[in-house]
Amino acid sequence: MSEELAFAECDRLVREFEQVIKKPVKRSSSIYYTGVDLGTACVVLAVLDENRRPVAGAYRYADVVRDGMVVDYIGAIRLVREMKEELEKKLETELLYAAAAIPPGTDALDGGAIKNVVQGAGFEITALLDEPTAANQILKIQNGAVVDIGGGTTGISILENGQVINVDDEATGGTHFSLVLAGAYKLPFSEAEIYKRDKKNHKEILPVLKPVIEKVASIISRQAEGYNVQGLYLVGGTCCLAGIEDIIGKKTGIPTYKPENPMFVTPLGIAMSC
Ligand code: ATP
Repeated sequence: MSEELAFAECDRLVREFEQVIKKPVKRSSSIYYTGVDLGTACVVLAVLDENRRPVAGAYRYADVVRDGMVVDYIGAIRLVREMKEELEKKLETELLYAAAAIPPGTDALDGGAIKNVVQGAGFEITALLDEPTAANQILKIQNGAVVDIGGGTTGISILENGQVINVDDEATGGTHFSLVLAGAYKLPFSEAEIYKRDKKNHKEILPVLKPVIEKVASIISRQAEGYNVQGLYLVGGTCCLAGIEDIIGKKTGIPTYKPENPMFVTPLGIAMSC
C-alpha cells in the first residue's frame, strides 16, 4: 500500500473512532479488542470488533502517568476500570482482551506497572508495545519515522522497509507547551492547557510556542541522526496544534506530514495490535 493510501485509511479509521466515542456501535462480534493508552495527559480506550473496526471509545484527561511512569497506581487502575465498565455497559458485552503501550525505552523502568494497571482493571493483556510502533499499525509507513508527541514525551520509531530499526524517547511534549503558555500569558496551568487545545487559538499561540516546538524538533533530529530518514509522520495529541508540522519540517530539514487528527492514531494502533 502506498503511504498516501495508508494516510487516507488512517484518517478514515480515526473519523470512525471519533464517531463511536460519541455514539458506540453495537455490532455483533465474537471478540472485541481494546487498546489502552495510558498517557501523561490523557487516558484513551479504543475498542475494535472482530473485523478490527472501531465500535466504542472513551478518553479522559488524567494525572496518573508522567512520562510513561505510573505515578498514581490505584488511581490509574480505578480510572481504567471505570472506563472499561462504562464501555461494557454501552456495548452490552464484557471486554476481555487489551493491549497497551509505553513510551519507547521505558519498558525496563515501568512497563510492568502499566501492564499491572491494565490487568488490575480486569483485562487480560495480550500485547505491550511502544507508542510510535503502535501508531504505525495504522499508518503503515514503510520508510521514514513515526514521531509520537504526547503530553510528556516525544517518541520516535524509525522504519526501513516496514521494519522498526530503532526506537527512542525523550521528555518534552504538550505539558511543556502548556507550561510555556502559562508563563507567557500569566495563566494557571489548567487554563493554559484548555486555551492551547482550542483550535481557534492556534494561530495566535504558534509564535509563542515556536521555541518549544523547535526544541522538540532538535530532539527529533538527534533521534534520527545516523539513519536515512526521508519523512517524519507526526502523531500524538500535541500534533493537533495547527502549524507544528511546518516548524518541525523546517527545523529538521525532513519532509513532515501529519494525518487529519493525530490524537487517536496511537490508541487505535494499540487496539489493532491486541
Ligand atoms: P504521553 O504519550 O507523553 O505519555 P499522552 O498519551 O497523554 O502522553 P496524547 O494523548 O497523545 O499524549 O496527547 C496529549 C497532549 O496533547 C496534551 O498535552 C494535550 O494538551 C495535547 N492536545 C490535545 N488536543 C490538542 C489540541 N487540539 N491542540 C493542541 N494540543 C492538544
